[in-house]
Amino acid sequence: MSISVPRPSPLQFQCKKKNRTMAEVNVSPLKHFVTAKKKINGIFEQLGTYIKESAAFLEDTYKNEQLDPLTTEEQVQEVCSYLSKVAGIGEVLARRHMKVVFFGRTSNGKSSVINAMLCDKVLPSGIGHTTNCFLRVEGTDGEGFLLTEGSEDRKSITTVNQLAHALLQDVDLDAGSLVCVMWPKAKCALLRDDLVLLDSPGIDVTTELDSWIDKFCLDADVFVLVANSESTLMQTEKSFFHKVNQRLSSPNVFILNNRWDASASEPEYMEEVRRQHMDRCTNFLVDELGVVDRAQASDRIFFVSAKEVLQARVQKAQGMPESGGALAEGFQARMFEFQNFERRFEECISQSAVKTKFEQHTVRAKQISEALRRIMDVVHVAAQEQRLYCLETKEDRQQRLEFIEKQLDLLTMDCKAKIKRITEEVERQVTNTMAEEIRKLHVLVDDFHMDFHPSPVVLKVYKNELHRYIEDGLGKTMSDRCSSSITNALQATQMEMIEGLKPLLPNPIREQANKIIPRQYFNLTYDLACDKLCSDFQEDISFHFSLGWTMLVNRFLGPKNTRRALMGYNDQVPRPMALTPVSTSMPPFPQSSVTQEELMVTMVTGLASLTSRTSMGVLVVGGVIWKAVGWRLIALSLGLYGLLYVYERLTWTTKAKERAFKRQFVDYASEKLQLIVSYTGSNCSHQVQQELTSVFAQLCQQVDVTRQNLDDEVNEINRKIELLDNLQSKAKLLRNKAGWLDSELNMFTQQYLQQSK
Ligand code: GDP
Repeated sequence: MSISVPRPSPLQFQCKKKNRTMAEVNVSPLKHFVTAKKKINGIFEQLGTYIKESAAFLEDTYKNEQLDPLTTEEQVQEVCSYLSKVAGIGEVLARRHMKVVFFGRTSNGKSSVINAMLCDKVLPSGIGHTTNCFLRVEGTDGEGFLLTEGSEDRKSITTVNQLAHALLQDVDLDAGSLVCVMWPKAKCALLRDDLVLLDSPGIDVTTELDSWIDKFCLDADVFVLVANSESTLMQTEKSFFHKVNQRLSSPNVFILNNRWDASASEPEYMEEVRRQHMDRCTNFLVDELGVVDRAQASDRIFFVSAKEVLQARVQKAQGMPESGGALAEGFQARMFEFQNFERRFEECISQSAVKTKFEQHTVRAKQISEALRRIMDVVHVAAQEQRLYCLETKEDRQQRLEFIEKQLDLLTMDCKAKIKRITEEVERQVTNTMAEEIRKLHVLVDDFHMDFHPSPVVLKVYKNELHRYIEDGLGKTMSDRCSSSITNALQATQMEMIEGLKPLLPNPIREQANKIIPRQYFNLTYDLACDKLCSDFQEDISFHFSLGWTMLVNRFLGPKNTRRALMGYNDQVPRPMALTPVSTSMPPFPQSSVTQEELMVTMVTGLASLTSRTSMGVLVVGGVIWKAVGWRLIALSLGLYGLLYVYERLTWTTKAKERAFKRQFVDYASEKLQLIVSYTGSNCSHQVQQELTSVFAQLCQQVDVTRQNLDDEVNEINRKIELLDNLQSKAKLLRNKAGWLDSELNMFTQQYLQQSK
C-alpha cells in the first residue's frame, strides 16, 4: 500500500539543496552554533586581553607624574570596569548551549521523541510518566551520571533501566524539580554539539505552568510540542504555549504529531486526518500564537512516529536492518519526515541560539571596543598635543640658548673694551694727579708741625709722624681728586654691564641683578707706604758754612756727587733698598753708571785729596797770593770771611735745622714718590679692573646658571618627547587593536547573525 506524502522524498530533498556539496549537507546545522560559539569565545578572550593591556597602559599613563594628565581617573575606572564585564560575559558564553524543551501531555511520546533523536534509549518511556520532574539530557565527556537539583551527589547510570530505577527511588522529586542526565557524548552524536534536551512532565499533570516557564523556558531556543495524532490539540497544550508566547517574544515552536504510525491502520482517512491536523496546527501557530508565517508553517508541523524511528535507529545501531521488525506501512515516509523535522529543528535551533545567545553580547563587545577606541583616540590626540607643545617649547628654549650665547659673546667683547678703557683712564688720572701732588709736596711738608730736635730719638719720632702725615695727606688729596670721579665712572660701567646682561637672565633673576653690585662704596686705596719708601732717608742737619770747602764743592757738583767726592769714590757702594711690599713690584732704581759727572768727581776728588794732604801746597798758594794782593786785602777778606762764618754759625738754630730737614726730606721723598707714580696708577687701575671684572664674572655666572637651566630644561623636554612618542605609538596600537576587534565582531555579525535573520 502506498501512501502519498506531501513531503519531498529524500531524493527531492537532496535536489532542493543541490547547491550545497555533499559534505555540507552531511554537516549538522548544529555546527553553525558550535563554530559561532568558538569564534565569539575567541573574540571575547582577545577582547579581555586587550582590555587588560589597555587598562594597564591607561593606569601607567595616569600615574606618570612626568606628564600632564593624558587620561582621567574616570577613563581608567571605565576600562577596569569593562574588564570584569567582559570576563563575566566570557564565562556566560563558555556555558552557552542550545536548549530545546519538549512539552505535551503525558504519554504523547516526548521521551520517545528525545530517545529517537538521541538514537538510543536514554530516557525511560512507555510506563506512563514515572515522575513529575524535568529531565535535562546533556552530553558529558566521561561516564554517564545523574544529578538531582540541589545535590552534588552523582549517581552513576549506564542504562535506561538504571535511570528509571533511580528516578523511582528519589521520592523527593516533584513537578518543579530538575534532574540532569549527563549522557556520554561518545554514545550520542547530537549531544556533542552543545545541545541540551529538556523533557517535561505532562502539561496535564500540573497547574504551575507559569513557574515552569520562569524556571526552565526563558533560555529555551526551541519548543517542541509533542502532540498525539490520534487525538486533537488539547486546550491545556494550547494555553501553555500562549503563556510561553506572552513571556518570550516569538518563540520557535515545532509541533510533532506523534503516533502517526497509527494512521497506517486507517489509510482511507489518513489524508483527511493529516489535513485537519495540519490546518488546526497551522491556525494555532499562525493565527493564535503568531510565531510563524503561514507559508513557513508547514516547516514547523510534522507527522512522525517516534517509536518507529527509535526502534529503527536502535536496530541499526545493533547492526540489524533499519526497517526490520514489525513496522507499519509507510515507515520510510514517516522516517523521512522525522529526519526532515530533525534537520529543520537543527537549522532553526542553531540559528536562533546564535542570535539570542550571542547577538546581544556581540553588540556589547562592539560598544566596549568602540569606547576603548575612543579613549585611545583621546589619549593619542592628547599625547600628540602635548608633544607638539613640547617641541614648540624646546625650539623656544634652544633659540633662547643660541641668543644668549651670541649676546654673551658680544657683551663680553664690549665689556672687555669698556674695562680696558676705564682702567686706562683711571691709570692716566691717578698718574697725573700723583705727579701734580708730588710737585706740591713741599706745601704739605711745610704744613707739618711737630716739636723738632736734632737728637736721634726725637728725629726718629719726627720722621715717623712725618711719614704718617704725608701718607694720610697725600692719600686724602688723591682720594679727593680721583676717587669720586673714578667711582662714578666705575658704577656707570657696572650699570651698563648689568643693563646689557639683564635681557639674558630670566625674569625672576632679572629683578635681583642690581643686587650684584656690592652695597659698600668702592674705595680706591693708594697704598703709598711712605714709611717704607722713605726709610732710607738720611738727613744732614750738621752746620755747613756756606763758603766752606764742602759747600763750595757741593754748589759746584750737587749734593750727591759732593758726598761721593768727599767720602772717596771707592766707598760709594749703593745701599740695597729695604724690601717692602710696595717695593716688590716697584720698578728698580736706576743703576749707577759711569757718567761725565762721575768723571768730573773723580778729577776734583783727586785734586782735593792732593790739596788737603799737601800742606806744602797751601803755603805755596798763600805765598803766591800774598805777593799778588798784599796782606791788607788778605786780612780784610779773612775778617769778612770770619764774620760771615760767625753770623752763619749763630743763625744755625733748631728752626733752621728743621727747615733744612724738611727741605732735604721733600727732595728725597719727591724723588722716591716719583718712582712709584706709575706703579700707583697701575695699582689703582688694577683695583678698578678687578672690581669690574668681578661684577662681570658674577653676571656671567648668573647667565651660566640661566644657560644651564635652559640646557636642563631642553634635556627634560627631550625625555618627555621620547616618552610621549612611546605613549602615542602605544595608544595608536591599542586604537588599531580596537579597530581590529571591531572588524572581527563585524565579520562575526555578518557571518553568523545577519544570516540567521
Ligand atoms: P511521554 O509520557 O510523553 O514521555 O510518553 P512516552 O515516550 O513515555 O510514551 C508513552 C507510550 O507511548 C510508550 O509506550 C511509547 O512506546 C508509546 N509511543 C510513543 N511514541 C509512539 C508512537 O509514535 N507510536 C506508537 N504506536 N506508540 C508510541
